[in-house]
Amino acid sequence: MVQLEADIRELIRQAEKIHRLSEDEIVRLLRAADAEEALAAAADRVRAAYVGDGVHLRGLIEFSSYCRRDCLYCGLRRSNSKAERYRLEAAEILRLARQAKAFGYHTVVLQSGEDLYFTAERLAEILRAVKKLDLAVTLSLGERSYEEYRLLREAGADRFLLRIETSDAGLYEQMDPGMRWEERCRCLQDLRRLGYEVGTGCLVGLPGQTDVSLARDILFFQQLDADMVGIGPLIPNGDTPLATAAAGDFHLTRRMVSLIRLLLPEANIPATTAMETLQPDARVLILQSGANVVMPNVTEGEARRKYALYPGKACVADTPAACRHCMEGKIQAMGRYVAKDQGFRQHRK
Ligand code: SAM
Ligand code: SF4
Repeated sequence: MVQLEADIRELIRQAEKIHRLSEDEIVRLLRAADAEEALAAAADRVRAAYVGDGVHLRGLIEFSSYCRRDCLYCGLRRSNSKAERYRLEAAEILRLARQAKAFGYHTVVLQSGEDLYFTAERLAEILRAVKKLDLAVTLSLGERSYEEYRLLREAGADRFLLRIETSDAGLYEQMDPGMRWEERCRCLQDLRRLGYEVGTGCLVGLPGQTDVSLARDILFFQQLDADMVGIGPLIPNGDTPLATAAAGDFHLTRRMVSLIRLLLPEANIPATTAMETLQPDARVLILQSGANVVMPNVTEGEARRKYALYPGKACVADTPAACRHCMEGKIQAMGRYVAKDQGFRQHRK
C-alpha cells in the first residue's frame, strides 16, 4: 500500500464526502500519480452509492463517416483524403437498432461526423422509427442550430453527446479550426433548454493542454451539471496533423475519470473504447475506477472499419455479437451486472 501524504488523503476524503474541490486541489490530485489507486477506490465507492452496480450498455451505431469539420486529431476530418467515406441507409440504421434491441441494449447511440446530408428532417424520420422499438436514443452528430436540435428532440431523441474536447478556448479553436468555443457552449445550453440529457467530455493529451486546463474541464462539467461525461486519451492518427503527437497518458486519464465520479456523483460515465485501445482490458479497470457505462459497437462490416477516428481501435475486428458476450462476461466477472433499464440519470434531490 502506498503511503500517501496526509493532505492528499484528506482531499480524497473531502471529494468523496462533499463532492467539491477547488481548481488547485483538483490539479494536486491530477499530479499525484501515487494517489491513483486511492482515488479509484473512492470513486468506486461513490459510483456504488449513487448509481449502483448496474452497467449500462449503449449500442453504438456509426452511421456516417462524412464530416464537414477539420479537427486536427480526428481521422474523419474533411482534409483526410485517405479516409474512406460511407453513409448508412435509413433502413440499415433501423436494422442495426433492431439488432441492438435483440442484444438486450436499452439505448442506441447514433454517431457520425458532421454530415449535413443527414438533415434534421431525415434524422427525425429515422428517430421516429427507432423510437418505435422502445429504445432510448442518444445522438452524437455535432453542432446544429437550436431549431434542428428542437426537431430532433421532438422526434424522440433523449440524449445528446457533444464533448467540449477542452475548456481552454484558445486550444479548442486551434485544435478544431473554424469552430468556436462560444458556439460549442451555445449548443450545450440549447440542448439543456430543450430537455435533452446532456453529455459532454474531453480529450486528454492534446498538445499544449495543461493539468490546470484539465482541472477546469472538470469544473466546467460540474457547472454544466452534465448528465454524462466521456473522457478519452488522444490517440494519434497518422493521417492527421497530430500524427506525431504523443498519446494521452493512460493513468492521467484514469485519474480524470475517478475525479469526475467524485465531483459529479450522479453522472453516467462511460469506460471508453479509446482507453481500451491504449491498454487491453482497460474498460474493466475504468469500470472499477468510477465508470458505469460501456458503449459496445453494433456497426457491422465495412462501415465498422471505415469509421476510423484513430488507428488500432479496440474490438474493430469483432462482430457486434462477440462484443455483447465479451462485455457481459467481463461485467459479471467483476461482480456487477448488465442494467435492465434505459439508464437515465437519477437525481438524488
Ligand atoms: N462529430 C461529432 C463530434 O465531434 O461531436 C461526433 C463524432 S466524434 C468522432 C466523437 C469524438 O471522437 C470526439 O468528440 C473526439 O473527442 C473523439 N476523437 C476524435 N478523434 C480522436 C482521436 N484521435 N483520439 C481519441 N478520440 C478522438
Ligand atoms: Fe468531425 Fe467529430 Fe471528427 Fe471533428 S471530431 S473531425 S467534428 S467527426
